[in-house]
Formats: sequence, C-alpha cells, structure tokens
Amino acid sequence: MRADREERKRSRNHKSPAFAPPRSSETMSFGGRYDLPPFYREFEDVYRQLYEIYGICNYHGWGGTLPPVALIINRSTRPTRVAGFAQLQATSVNGQVFNAISITLNICARGQTASFMPILLHEMVHIWQYAQGRRGGHGKDFRNEMLLLGIDEAGQRERVGSPVERISREVQMRYPGLAARMRECMTSPHHSSKEMDFAFFRMMLESGR
Ligand SMILES: [Zn+2]
Repeated sequence: MRADREERKRSRNHKSPAFAPPRSSETMSFGGRYDLPPFYREFEDVYRQLYEIYGICNYHGWGGTLPPVALIINRSTRPTRVAGFAQLQATSVNGQVFNAISITLNICARGQTASFMPILLHEMVHIWQYAQGRRGGHGKDFRNEMLLLGIDEAGQRERVGSPVERISREVQMRYPGLAARMRECMTSPHHSSKEMDFAFFRMMLESGR
C-alpha cells in the first residue's frame, strides 16, 4: 500500500534526541480523573488506550522491561514529516525522571489502529536505547533491535511470528476504533498541551494504572 509505505518513510524521519535537562511538570496535576480538563475528559479513552498499547508493545517486544514513558499527543494539522519523536528526560514526577514519546496524529491516525505500530515501535526502540544508556540515533544497535521486532530497513514488516505481527494483530483486534477517535482529537475545540499531557501521565502513574 502506497500510503503505508509513505507512512513508513516518514516514520524513519526522526529527530535527534535532545539532552536538555528535564522540564519539570511538578507544577501541574489533575489530582484524579474527575478534575480532568475538557479535552482530557473527552478523550480519556484515547490516552488510556495508547498507554495500554505501549504496554502491549513493551510486553511483546521487550518482555515488559521498558520503563513507563509519558505519551504526548501532537494534534497539529500542519504538514510534517515527523511521525513520532522520543524525548529523553522529558518530565519528572516526584523527583523521578521519565522519557516521553510524542505521537503526531496527522500521520499516525491516518489508517487503521495497527498502521502506526511501526512508528510507535520505532520510538520505543529509542526508549530501549535510552534505558541502555545509549545515545539514540539510527545506528547498528537501532537497526538490530528493529530487525528483532520484525521491521527491516526496507520497511518490510509483519514477518510471520514476529513481535510486530503479533502486536499489530492484537492491537487491531482490541482497539479497532482507536484510529478514528485519534482523528476526532484533531478537530476538538478543546485545549490540550504538552504540559497537560505530562499531568495526565502523572495521574496515570499515581493511580497505578
Ligand atoms: Zn528515530
């Protein structure tokens, strides 16, 4: 599928990791789901499902050993080539530092829910690199890890029995409507922000999701 190939091409276009000190989100907290601002009330299901999918990818790809990350939903409708972005030391919660993955809806919400798994897994390989104390980037360690997941350099995926194939199947079965909900996020009149996404993450962490 042409659109799919385009998506994969975009998914390879990844920004270099930043090594800035964490921008603290300690100042903002929702204090529980009933305090959620309108956008987060409207799309709480989307955030929760994305965190669940991170868990599914973590389980099938790394045996659940990757640390929790904050998920940032980028709702911008401007054309971009950056489908996803892994940020090192993006936020801190109670003195503990966490990385983040930003998901560009304009690209990731185009197809079916399973369609953006290669993008998410690409960013999760960066999270794996960071967890290993590596600098990130798309070198040999990155390519090897992608191959182990079943995604080769040509963007071929869903090798039978590979983690990406199992993940795509499970995610599509469990969250068939998620991509459509992600598209709805883009047109909501309600406000969201990176800081509020961090606050949602903090709430998820503190509620023990
Ligand atoms: Zn990358």
